Amino acid sequence: MKNEIQAVQKYSDIASFVKTLDDNQQPPTPCKLCNSKLRKEAEELFDRQKNISAVHRFLKEKGEEISYPAVNNHINQHKNREQLNTDLREYANELQKWAQLSKEDDVLYKRYIDSLDAEYNKLMSEAPRLDPGERRRNLELALKISQQVLVFKDQVKKLELEKRPVEIFVDTLNRIIRVKLQDIKNPEVKRALEDVVQQLGREVQQVPDND
Ligand SMILES: [Zn+2]
Repeated sequence: MKNEIQAVQKYSDIASFVKTLDDNQQPPTPCKLCNSKLRKEAEELFDRQKNISAVHRFLKEKGEEISYPAVNNHINQHKNREQLNTDLREYANELQKWAQLSKEDDVLYKRYIDSLDAEYNKLMSEAPRLDPGERRRNLELALKISQQVLVFKDQVKKLELEKRPVEIFVDTLNRIIRVKLQDIKNPEVKRALEDVVQQLGREVQQVPDND
């Protein structure tokens, strides 16, 4: 039996995907309005009035005989596709900006903690000038925020604990090599091991600080 599955290009980010969108892609069936010189005017009329009958009438008056269902189909299928493409492009643009912020786990958690903590403090500072009812709602919200901050802080602690065995391993290895270095007479071997120690030092410093 022949394998019918076709390879489909998949994109891991929306920015690459939107580059493939084509506003002028031919509709699956020939559409009179897509190919009409009055297309732009008709679409602008629809944007103003949101009325397909009005668009249909307008085309008829201009001598363009296109049936109501065809106009309706164009507005709903083809015109909206362009709008969808535009929306997707704007969304992708927006996402690209935000993507520049680091999403490293520890950085992300710390950012959440900072921004939530700022909100908590704003809420609490407002409290004295609120009436009792508002004050109670404020307090409930502040409490929820503080609980979420604690959840994120726990995550940060877990990450730190995960990192610790690696640091211990590196320290131990470093110490062993330094002891061995004292006994080594061969200058090439000595140089190679010194390189290892220096490299290790640099690599460990690349691990972000936990405080
Ligand atoms: Zn069309």
